Amino acid sequence: MSISENEKRERALKIFHILKEEYPEARPLLTFSNPFELLIATILAAQCTDERVNMVTPLLFRQFPDAGKLAGAALEHLENIIQSTGFYKQKAKRIKDMAQALVERFGGKVPESIDDLASLPGVGRKTANVVAGNCFGIPAIMVDTHFQRVSGRLGFAFSSNPLKIEPEIRAFVPEEIQTRFSLVINFHGRYCCKARKPLCPSCKVEKLCPFKEKTVK
Ligand code: SF4
Repeated sequence: MSISENEKRERALKIFHILKEEYPEARPLLTFSNPFELLIATILAAQCTDERVNMVTPLLFRQFPDAGKLAGAALEHLENIIQSTGFYKQKAKRIKDMAQALVERFGGKVPESIDDLASLPGVGRKTANVVAGNCFGIPAIMVDTHFQRVSGRLGFAFSSNPLKIEPEIRAFVPEEIQTRFSLVINFHGRYCCKARKPLCPSCKVEKLCPFKEKTVK
């Protein structure tokens, strides 16, 4: 590990310890009760709010509680249920295709490894990390829009490509805290380090943050 990665790790650990106290409730905000449900909900959450997704999934999961049932669903029926999440035609096809692949390649069971998850149609690295980290205890770096913004401001990663950010962060954040680290950074982005106007004066990690355009009030 290079000196700068050592420095990054030290600072990341300090920030993590402060933020995990600040956001003890940090967790996925999508409602789910098993890996299959979190997988579907995360796909539906693309370009949509978690709140909106949580409104449609109770009916969806009641009617299609497993991959076998979802694989056999009529597309039009799926479209009707998920319509309010936006891009519903693509999303309906995406979750049906994904369910078919789950049945054909994994016996209808959601695989645990990030690479297996990301090999499913319609499942990107972020979704794969979300499911593996939150359902199977696999060290996960979940690069969503909040994580990307905050890790850039904190000087942890600079790429605009989430696929590059994931290995950059994995290089210096210890495996045993990676999933929790992702969740607290995500919460910090939602509630303090906001996109338009970060709340720097009240930020608990302000002294450890190198961002040049901090707000002053
Ligand atoms: S000081 Fe400002 S820019 Fe830095 S992490 Fe805190 S809110 Fe974000």
